[in-house]
Amino acid sequence: MRNRRAALATTASLALTLSACGQDGEGGSDDKGGGPKGATIGISMPTKSSERWIGDGDNVVKDLRAKGYKTKLAFGQDDPDQQVSQIENMITQGVKALIIAAIDNKSMNNVLQQAADAEIPVISYDRLILGTGNVDYYASFDNTKVGELQGGYIVDKLGLKDGGKKGPFNIELFAGSNDDNNTKYFFQGAMNVLQPYIDSKRLVVRSGQTGLTQVTTLRWDGGTAQKRMDDILTSSYKRARVDAVLSPYDGISIGILSSLKSDDYGSKDKPLPVVTGQDAELASVKSIIAGEQTQTVYKDTRQLAEVASNMVDAALHGKKPEINDDKTYDNGSKVVPAYLLQPVSVDKSNYEKELVDTGYYKASDLK
Ligand code: BGC
Repeated sequence: MRNRRAALATTASLALTLSACGQDGEGGSDDKGGGPKGATIGISMPTKSSERWIGDGDNVVKDLRAKGYKTKLAFGQDDPDQQVSQIENMITQGVKALIIAAIDNKSMNNVLQQAADAEIPVISYDRLILGTGNVDYYASFDNTKVGELQGGYIVDKLGLKDGGKKGPFNIELFAGSNDDNNTKYFFQGAMNVLQPYIDSKRLVVRSGQTGLTQVTTLRWDGGTAQKRMDDILTSSYKRARVDAVLSPYDGISIGILSSLKSDDYGSKDKPLPVVTGQDAELASVKSIIAGEQTQTVYKDTRQLAEVASNMVDAALHGKKPEINDDKTYDNGSKVVPAYLLQPVSVDKSNYEKELVDTGYYKASDLK
């Protein structure tokens, strides 16, 4: 308590720090039915370098304001220390609940202890925070399913199921950031589908890089993936063609495609391989329409924002939020009660139905 009071005394000076850290999104005030009047909710997103998180931030702010809350939104710019200090500032400023999509899932222990001391409920958003009991609920998608959709798409597209004769095909594997808990679920989901074909040699990983630790991409960085693909093409594809690339995220897919195109893939005699993705980011949907990236996994972040906002609202009213999974997400300290949404595989054949008809994008956005 003493610490908390002392901390509150420094609120005014922190306001400056907050704006310097790129915090924005304050607003909303009246209790329009639901939110304890005047309560401010802190929202911590990982980065603005990927469109989806900007959309997530906007949607959470919108939903919370509609429930009568004020909001403080900050983006950690892919720097775990910066994210932690932004959250500390929010706690100091007296937020009543936190929604956090962590950059490094193991970096939150101390700051979440401060949240617990101040009796602030914490919602782990999209990415599970690990190693602390001070996480109340988890809002995400079925992350294993995301990987299964990616792996399953490759199997279908290469015709591996048809009669069991096609192939062998060459495939390379990419995974997400090793400090993001989702990475292993995505990769495991994909490998659930791909591994039997690798075992039977109908899929061949010429680089030999098949272990998760060999294929991760720090901070999901497209440039890092591009460089790794360059190296793989040089070392393993001088006299062979790559037929498919498992990519866990659209920004990584775009990097992989740049590498492939600079090696003449996409020209008349050298078709681009099947390349998966995730998030249905604008650049990737355009790439799919243009026939370059093949697939993405669409996760309606409007729904995720709504689930997280409902969790906050329930928690602040002393109610139990709606949960549909209380088994899967053990964070090493507890099994975090979760609500998981369903991801959808999107390619050229269904993007209009899934992305335009649902209002996620306007047809004109995709021109
Ligand atoms: C999210 C993905 C996203 C990735 C990179 C993951 O934690 O679940 O939707 O593609 O982070 O931002």
